[in-house]
Amino acid sequence: MTSTLETQSAPPGPVREVGVAIIGSGFAGLCMAIALRRRGETDFVVLERGNDVGGTWRDNTYPGAACDVQSNLYSFSFHRNPHWPRSYSEQPEIQAYLQDTADRFGVRPHCAFGADVTSARWDDAARRWTVTTSAGTFRSRVLVSAAGALADPTYPDIPGLDTFAGTVVHSARWDHDHDLAGERVAVIGTGASAVQVVPAVQPVVESIAVYQRTPAWVVPRTDHPVKPWMQRLYRFVPGLQRGVRAMLYLFREFLVIGMAKNRAFLKPVGTLARAHLHRQVRDPKLRAALTPDYTIGCKRILISNDYFPAVAAPNAELVTAGIAEVREHSIVAGDGVERPTDTIVLATGFHVTDLPIAQKICGRDGRSLADVWSDGMVSNRSATVAGFPNLFLLVGPNVGVGHTSMVYMIESQVSYVDDALKTMDAEGLEVLETTPEAQQAYRDLIAEKSRGTVWLAGGCASWYLDQHGHNTTLWPDFTFRFRRLTKKLDRENYVGIPAGAPSEQPEVAA
Ligand code: NAP
Repeated sequence: MTSTLETQSAPPGPVREVGVAIIGSGFAGLCMAIALRRRGETDFVVLERGNDVGGTWRDNTYPGAACDVQSNLYSFSFHRNPHWPRSYSEQPEIQAYLQDTADRFGVRPHCAFGADVTSARWDDAARRWTVTTSAGTFRSRVLVSAAGALADPTYPDIPGLDTFAGTVVHSARWDHDHDLAGERVAVIGTGASAVQVVPAVQPVVESIAVYQRTPAWVVPRTDHPVKPWMQRLYRFVPGLQRGVRAMLYLFREFLVIGMAKNRAFLKPVGTLARAHLHRQVRDPKLRAALTPDYTIGCKRILISNDYFPAVAAPNAELVTAGIAEVREHSIVAGDGVERPTDTIVLATGFHVTDLPIAQKICGRDGRSLADVWSDGMVSNRSATVAGFPNLFLLVGPNVGVGHTSMVYMIESQVSYVDDALKTMDAEGLEVLETTPEAQQAYRDLIAEKSRGTVWLAGGCASWYLDQHGHNTTLWPDFTFRFRRLTKKLDRENYVGIPAGAPSEQPEVAA
């Protein structure tokens, strides 16, 4: 099947030739750009659809938006920030950090803002990617997709939602001009975004109905301000902050033992979550409704000290009967109860297993990544796909983590991609492409590692799994193993074509 995607018409203007085109300027795109800058590379462009760097941290500005990984860990290893004001940062601080990172490492001049990628096609004759954007066309030798997995919000298919006369806002596209004060608000979803937005808006609204499909396991948030003297200490004794970072990393890796190796190690975490719920919610009926029936860790473990109190507040209601339909000024639940509603907040997540960017990237035979992945996302080492020469994916298949910092995984991926680019230069290769055999071997490795893990066997339905129930999003092992696996390019799993050599006679690595 060939791609149904038509070549998009680009705005008129000269085609810009670049060595490397990077899609996205979130943590992953910035990290890639910085790796290039740090070794003196300047022939690259960062294609950013927004007007600033930051990716998901620029876009998710809903009230209460914050990170549930400590900033000492959720930051670049090469740019630790001694000035985090809290142990867990809020969205504005993280966005400011990313802006500062882009400036400090000289990435901003390479950014083309307002450049929304509409298609990227491999031209096998020219051995170049043709990347069409809303800000013009680029031709690049290498394409790095750092478009992210939490980039495009999902809008649920609820009957009548399009007929609602009030305001509908997605958590990832917050409308700051709309004042919720005194309104009757419905929040749909109880994931990581919902547990932050619900307590942030509950005190100002007249009433809040939280529509829960599946309850989440929630543990306490051990957040605290970082005192100025501590910030100074971090600044003048960098080894201290490195030490704290290492401790946080190791502590979080312990969770993998319970999630992927031996379920008994998850028991204390489950006990902690139950005690937290017990302490915060007195009403046994509400407590029962908030208690998950699947193993902790199957879905992302949430951290919050104010979600349960907000749901238990007098002006709040937890609705577990599902949603039958949305009417012009109300929501009708599955049990027939109709609740007048002024604003609906969709905290319904993102397209993760069906990445929209995959529909836009077409490989050698014209098929899109989405077509090739119709049976589930596959790759070699989460970075490359057979049939897509000179394409590298960051934050693509099987690189997600629920227990620790995604920035760690991104740095691992960038070092792999950078090694691939250096190998291409060192060997004078014009084309580098992974083999289908390597891709199958990696798929088998992921399946083997995933077997019996809490993500597959924990009794929940999560977006970690695709429609076939396969794990195509998570790295199912210790993250240091991923780092080891991607430390260097596995050259033996790639076919390289030197500049000037015909495509028919690719040089296969020894
Ligand atoms: P999410 O985890 O996918 O949660 C979506 C929620 O919406 C779920 O509760 C889901 O219910 C519900 N839902 C979806 N479709 C629905 C429908 N048609 N009807 C009723 N309910 C529906 O999305 P998210 O909360 O935005 O979080 C996504 C990811 O973003 C997180 O896992 C995390 O990686 C990241 N995030 C991170 C932070 C952070 O602190 N670092 C904060 C926010 C988000 P079911 O559970 O039944 O599917």
